[in-house]
Amino acid sequence: MTKQTQWETEVIAELELLEKVSQKRAIVTTKEINSPFVIRDGQKLLNLASNNYLGLSNDIRLKNAAFMAIDKYGVGSGASRLMTGNHPLYDKVESRLIQWKRAEAALVLNSGYTANVGIISALMKRDDIVFSDKLNHASIIDGIVLSRAKLQRYRHRDIYHLEALLMKAPKDKRKLIVTDTVFSMDGDIADLEGIVRLKEKYNAMLMVDEAHASGVYGKGGQGYSYHVNLQDKVDIQMGTFSKAFGTYGAYVVAKKWIIDYLINCMRGLIYTTALPPSVLATIERAIEIVEEENEKRIILQQHAQHFRNMLINYGFDTCKSESQIVPIIIGENSKTLSFAKRLQEEGIAAIAVRPPTVPDNKARVRFAITATHQKKQLDWALEKIIQVGKELEVI
Ligand code: PMP
Repeated sequence: MTKQTQWETEVIAELELLEKVSQKRAIVTTKEINSPFVIRDGQKLLNLASNNYLGLSNDIRLKNAAFMAIDKYGVGSGASRLMTGNHPLYDKVESRLIQWKRAEAALVLNSGYTANVGIISALMKRDDIVFSDKLNHASIIDGIVLSRAKLQRYRHRDIYHLEALLMKAPKDKRKLIVTDTVFSMDGDIADLEGIVRLKEKYNAMLMVDEAHASGVYGKGGQGYSYHVNLQDKVDIQMGTFSKAFGTYGAYVVAKKWIIDYLINCMRGLIYTTALPPSVLATIERAIEIVEEENEKRIILQQHAQHFRNMLINYGFDTCKSESQIVPIIIGENSKTLSFAKRLQEEGIAAIAVRPPTVPDNKARVRFAITATHQKKQLDWALEKIIQVGKELEVI
């Protein structure tokens, strides 16, 4: 046997420490059979942990779009978009995006993660300042770090704190405010009106991450900015096709000069292979479906409200959730893991979210409601959640 190196010893010690504080992660294999059910460890579970908010990932119309594209174009794109990978379907999807969002220009990107990292690191430079909500998605933080711009984190949804930071910043510096619209772990929503007011007052640009709001908010599912009619005040909108759209990939819409700049400078666009044509075909079809099927959004909101109200009535702490993402704050890591484990034993897939994804002592079970849940399934799940909550003295 070869001797352990110092490096190996240190890494193993780090993993052991994570295990000790119930923060070690494992990848659990889960197979969606038909939204909202999954199979895990051979057990059929009601899925309350998926971002497939409209149940489109198994939709026959999207499957057919993918089959046809594979049949016609094969399975890979072969090169980056700036080489030979820019399949004509990109033009179709981007034209659709522009129409749907009523935007000037659009780009399809490979994932939400690469979108945030790539957009921010391309646009911001060492001397610039980025104002970022404390609970923004990790990909936003990574983009800021990579850009080398100065990071100013403001307290979660606290526009007074944001203003205090903006006030202190030198007038001549380029400033970007960036926020999730729907926050992925708390399910609450940014004060977009307040942020827009500050962006105008302090001459900053505004970027929003609509990952959890795309397909869910707005009359045609265009996002939360459209829901509050502030889309024209937002300089950069990004979102993903991996959640409500049921497929994969991401988008950015903005003024033409921004999109042109990204095509020239965004490393996560230039140096990566283009999406497979079948994925583009599903995106094109998904935008159409999402735009048309408003009733799915209405059902989703009704379900989420019912689910959240019932939890609150029974004394659970659901943070300030207002959306289809509903957490139950538990606090301790080990208790949160036990909660999720007990739910699985009862037939429910729900995720224990622990630090560093959420702040220390804010571990939670995160529920995500979808339009494919039936009210009776949610009521059945609520009964189990209440039972486990009592058992573990969470309520
Ligand atoms: N932004 C937010 C707010 C997210 O929650 C996520 C995904 N968890 C992403 C970006 C990344 O998107 P994707 O999964 O498409 O990479």
